[in-house]
Amino acid sequence: MIAHVEKDACIGCGLCPSICPEIFEMDEDGLAIAAKEQVPQELEDSAQEAAESCPTEAIILS
Ligand code: SF4
Repeated sequence: MIAHVEKDACIGCGLCPSICPEIFEMDEDGLAIAAKEQVPQELEDSAQEAAESCPTEAIILS
């Protein structure tokens, strides 16, 4: 699974790094990035939960 954050859609709410800090973090602009785009299998559930919790659906998992 690959994680990607659409920065144009992110509103910087901070939810995704609080749910899945192993993959998502906030950058210097206060927007989320996927610090690690390749999601290890053991983190897929957590990354999925972060994506589903994102209020703007900015997280793309593929
Ligand atoms: S949950 Fe969505 S809107 Fe909030 S910081 Fe993460 S990507 Fe941005």
